[in-house]
Amino acid sequence: MSTTDPDCLFCKIASGEVPAEIVRDGGRVLAFRDINPQAPTHVLVIPREHHPDAVAAAGAGTGLVDEVVREAHSIAEDEGVASTGYRLVFNTGSGAGQTVFHLHCHLLGGRGMEWPPG
Ligand code: 5GP
Ligand code: ZN
Repeated sequence: MSTTDPDCLFCKIASGEVPAEIVRDGGRVLAFRDINPQAPTHVLVIPREHHPDAVAAAGAGTGLVDEVVREAHSIAEDEGVASTGYRLVFNTGSGAGQTVFHLHCHLLGGRGMEWPPG
């Protein structure tokens, strides 16, 4: 199975071909600031491997989604939003607002959040 997709924007960010403001560069996981932030802290946490969404990555059974979530929490601590609370979002499918089909976890924090989301 190929672990990169040459046409995928986030694979290109992972390889350095497309620049991004990197906040974490771990072994299997990378995090960078969203280009269109929806909160004072808005970071995208992705695996370097290409998986179209969180369900596909979870199905691979390699603990990648766990690692993404752990990394998101660690970044929330570094950003000073862990104690007040933060939101992790995996948009899954175009009807839910997914526009980039490479698994990414949105870490949103630094402001109050409403429920239900829009
Ligand atoms: P989705 O809508 O798929 O859940 O989230 C995709 C996110 O990627 C959006 O929040 C969008 O602002 C962000 N994004 C799209 N293109 C780029 C880019 O080139 N660089 C960065 N840093 N973020 C991007
Ligand atoms: Zn990709």
